[in-house]
Amino acid sequence: MAEKGTISINAENIMPVIKKWLYSDKDIFVRELVSNGCDAVSKMKRLVSMGEASLAPEEGEDAWRIDVVANADEGTLTFTDNGIGMTAEEVKKYIAQVAFSGAEEFLKKYKGENGENGIIGHFGLGFYSAFMVAKKVVINTKSYQEGAQAVRWISEDGMEYDLEDSDRETRGTSITLYLNDEDKEFANLWTLRQTLEKHCQFMPVPIFVSEVKNAAEEAPKEGEEPKEAPKPEQINDTHPLWLKRPADVTDEEYHEFYHKVFHDYDEPLFWIHLNAEYPFNLKGILYFPKLKNEFTANEGVIKLYNNQVFVADNIKEVIPEFLMLLKGVIDCPDLPLNVSRSFLQNDGYVKKMAAYITRKVADRLLTEFNTRREDYQKYWDDIHPFVKYGCIRDEKFYERVKPALIYKTSAGEYLTLEEYKNKNCEGDEAIIYYASDEKRQAQMIRLYTDQGKDVVLLDTLIDNNFISFLEYTEREQKLKFMRVDAAADGLTDDGEAMSEEELKRLGEMFKKATGDEQLSIEAKPFKSDDLIAMITVDEQSRRFTEMSRQWGRDMSLPEKRTLVLNRKHPVVHWLETAEDGERAQQVCAQVFDLAEMARQPLVADRMVDFLKRSNALLTLLIEK
Ligand code: ADP
Ligand code: MG
Repeated sequence: MAEKGTISINAENIMPVIKKWLYSDKDIFVRELVSNGCDAVSKMKRLVSMGEASLAPEEGEDAWRIDVVANADEGTLTFTDNGIGMTAEEVKKYIAQVAFSGAEEFLKKYKGENGENGIIGHFGLGFYSAFMVAKKVVINTKSYQEGAQAVRWISEDGMEYDLEDSDRETRGTSITLYLNDEDKEFANLWTLRQTLEKHCQFMPVPIFVSEVKNAAEEAPKEGEEPKEAPKPEQINDTHPLWLKRPADVTDEEYHEFYHKVFHDYDEPLFWIHLNAEYPFNLKGILYFPKLKNEFTANEGVIKLYNNQVFVADNIKEVIPEFLMLLKGVIDCPDLPLNVSRSFLQNDGYVKKMAAYITRKVADRLLTEFNTRREDYQKYWDDIHPFVKYGCIRDEKFYERVKPALIYKTSAGEYLTLEEYKNKNCEGDEAIIYYASDEKRQAQMIRLYTDQGKDVVLLDTLIDNNFISFLEYTEREQKLKFMRVDAAADGLTDDGEAMSEEELKRLGEMFKKATGDEQLSIEAKPFKSDDLIAMITVDEQSRRFTEMSRQWGRDMSLPEKRTLVLNRKHPVVHWLETAEDGERAQQVCAQVFDLAEMARQPLVADRMVDFLKRSNALLTLLIEK
């Protein structure tokens, strides 16, 4: 037999588009061809188990396999399976006619839509994706059916083909791609192995990769031992961990899987094994990774699979965005993945699934908190940015996980909001004092802790956003977060006020000494005796400035600084009656700098002046 044919209807229109549009996701042809091999094997297995086909005597139960062989010299790749095979009729029907139905539909639907890349690569263009990288494709196949004639199908462009008898003796299919010059890299063993590991790491049939060299190069030189051909190497794990019952998996196995799949050699903190049949057929494992540091944007990876076939990393339509900080695998056989992103975004099923995953994560955190609080507190430093981000992004997540939100205090305790309030707040006020830099704000922290008040540490980038979110969401509770330098209220006593005039006079003295015309001034008796003054900065304007800087828009409001003087302090008493001369100016400048240093380092010029002045003060001390 030998015949020529043209491939289905609109091939001329489709081929160029396939080649061009899928350019960015070129390597998916590997996934398509290998998964076709897997399909062919599982069809064969089913026929055997139903007694409708039988295996050759030399074939054992464990003989199922797919071989991918690279020949870098020839620039070819061959995919061989020992699955069901095809008859000439089937090749004509399935390869030449039916194959395009999916592609055609996709073209009709999305031709006009620009910029819709990404998921288009998951369209399941199937066999024809081979033409993205190959100038010629040869199928050599023999059906399982008794007495079937093996056939060879050859196509140079995916539009016309030749079909002829072949002398293939074994059941199954080999597909050979003659790669385009610019795609020859796929015949490089290393690249091929990477690509297979990416797409096929968990496919259900053993997949082996190997390379062949041209005979001339392989031939041993005189006096050399003939080399043994390298053994094909299995690249996949046919029983991925997520398909096992959680009860049957050991911690070691979870760890090993984590290292292998994510190439992260830190230990994960803990994990969630999703194992649902209802309401979704959804399996997977989500790991909470150890945080490296807050500045290497904590990059997670969620790998999405469809029946053990890799679909893509981080499809945000399916997995809630904030969960992308985790590392994990999700296998969802029922997902309509051969559709566009905009479809996924609006699909009710996908939405429910995302909500389900979110709920599972929140529930797991709650369980950790309720049953293993000590461990949970140890993880907290690593997981809190993720949890906080999740709260801001998803109110349902916040509502669920709320009881498990904790705050680390400067004393190293971890308190829930309720616990903090019970210990530190009176009446219905709920002011939480916090520090954003434990070292720099040490003195201010001490002022609070000396009075028996807890100060919590909120020192990551997300915290400003998080506390603003909480204040808004819990506005009925009158929740307020105040940085330790935001107000002096908690640190002062009520006492006789200074006369307006006197305050004004002192204010002028300080403005002159510091050059800060905007400075406001107050005077109150402090609870602490040894402090002359402190500087407070309005919480809201400071937070706003910091957040706008964080988003790269510098919309700084001028800092509203207030100098609060301790009326009980002898230096303040002295200033109250001092002439505004050189000595008073020196004292004002020194008092101001000391107060400023309690909250942040002095800027360079002020620092120079401060050191000079301090040196002079020492000299004064010994001259006395
Ligand atoms: P799909 O896999 O979605 O059906 P493909 O374009 O990948 O679409 O394949 C089209 C058809 O060609 C398959 O359904 C199958 O009938 C046949 N086919 C492809 N590859 C093989 C193979 N390796 N062995 C047997 N049949 C195959
Ligand atoms: Mg297919």
